Amino acid sequence: MAELTVSRVSKTFNGTRVLEPLDLTVGDGRFCCMLGSSGSGKSTLLRIIAGLEEPDEGAIRVGSRDITRLSVEKRNIGFVFQNYALFPHLSVQSNVMYGLRARRTPRSTAKRKAEEMLGLVGLGDFGARSPAQLSGGQQQRVALARALVTSPDLLLLDEPLSALDKKIRGEMQRELKRIHQETGLTTVMVTHDQEEAMDLGDQVMMLDHGVVQQNDTPESMYRAPGNRFVAQFLGGQS
Ligand code: ADP
Ligand code: MG
Repeated sequence: MAELTVSRVSKTFNGTRVLEPLDLTVGDGRFCCMLGSSGSGKSTLLRIIAGLEEPDEGAIRVGSRDITRLSVEKRNIGFVFQNYALFPHLSVQSNVMYGLRARRTPRSTAKRKAEEMLGLVGLGDFGARSPAQLSGGQQQRVALARALVTSPDLLLLDEPLSALDKKIRGEMQRELKRIHQETGLTTVMVTHDQEEAMDLGDQVMMLDHGVVQQNDTPESMYRAPGNRFVAQFLGGQS
């Protein structure tokens, strides 16, 4: 199935090593949360997995497929980034259909799938609206529907909730949990929020200066921080 395996992936920008050779496995259907300070390399790793950035070395597999050299379009990965840029001139429904239309899915099929995905994210009646008529939380749900509509093997979320206010964020966390349970999609989510990571993650991966500090269940990470960095990070944030 769709287990994600990252093997010995590294990345250098302008002579500075941003990711040291790094391994990560996320089991099929599992939810991995990635924590770490700003600049630790979290987005770079997600962008490499998504195919938006090329690694210096290493390999990425989803299930039995080696996707390291595939273009973004061929990877079959859904992603949502912090700045969820929906197309402002398109309706909510057309935004969700966009990826399907790009793949030449017939309009009627694309429409049906878009409606199904909008239902899944709780926006069944919002297809005809324009993005500007939605709240930040609702726009982020549309971005999620757009990422899910192509039936990806893997879902990547880069701080999808960090722009939302606290109350809406709590709501969206519950929604993400429900949607993850319903879809069973292997998911990697970057977050700044350690409570969010511990609550949503089956596994939490902590990154610092491009080095994995610990990759464990939330319980084990709390009970037995792997090193001083992890202990200080967990202790200093809440
Ligand atoms: P995080 O998401 O953990 O905050 P990033 O992966 O965005 O960290 O960035 C890690 C480091 O790589 C930062 O020092 C950042 O400035 C640098 N970086 C990221 N993308 C680029 C790029 N395209 N060109 C040059 N440097 C980059
Ligand atoms: Mg980032």
